Amino acid sequence: LATADLENERTLAIVKPDGVSGMYTSSVKKIILESGFTIQRELKVHLDEDSVRRFYAEHSTKSFFPSLVKYMTSGPVLIMVLEKTNAIADWRALIGPTDASKAKVTHPDSIRAMCGQDLERNCVHGSDSLDSAAREISFFFTDAFPEGTTQKHDEL
Ligand code: ADP
Ligand code: MG
Repeated sequence: LATADLENERTLAIVKPDGVSGMYTSSVKKIILESGFTIQRELKVHLDEDSVRRFYAEHSTKSFFPSLVKYMTSGPVLIMVLEKTNAIADWRALIGPTDASKAKVTHPDSIRAMCGQDLERNCVHGSDSLDSAAREISFFFTDAFPEGTTQKHDEL
């Protein structure tokens, strides 16, 4: 494991179905690269209901869950592993608050303000912690953490 990798952090980003169908993929990727992230992995896939239910398991008891599953299975998504120093917090800051309609007022320069619509259809996903980033990256990329590497920065 190269020393430089220890300072980097990885997070999971998703351009959701509304972002892909709305042709926002290239502008989102442009923002990602201009913000100093490298795109380590990339996967375009149409998720099935079972995958979305497992990915969003923490929300399974919420009233919006069935609608969330319908939304996330409505078309293809672009899933990316982003890497840079402080990737998790920096990506969350770039995408803005969950409610895209509020983001348009409070965070007009955010990605969700640019391409999201409301509390559900908010165009992009970002992991919210080291633990969720590790879980979410492993969910889609089973070989993301080879032997001897870890997302937990125990070394630092
Ligand atoms: P975030 O994506 O900002 O981390 P959450 O983890 O709380 O937000 O929710 C996951 C996703 O579920 C949101 O991005 C959004 O698409 C949807 N969602 C969250 N809360 C609601 C809600 N109250 N009504 C409808 N959809 C919601
Ligand atoms: Mg979340």
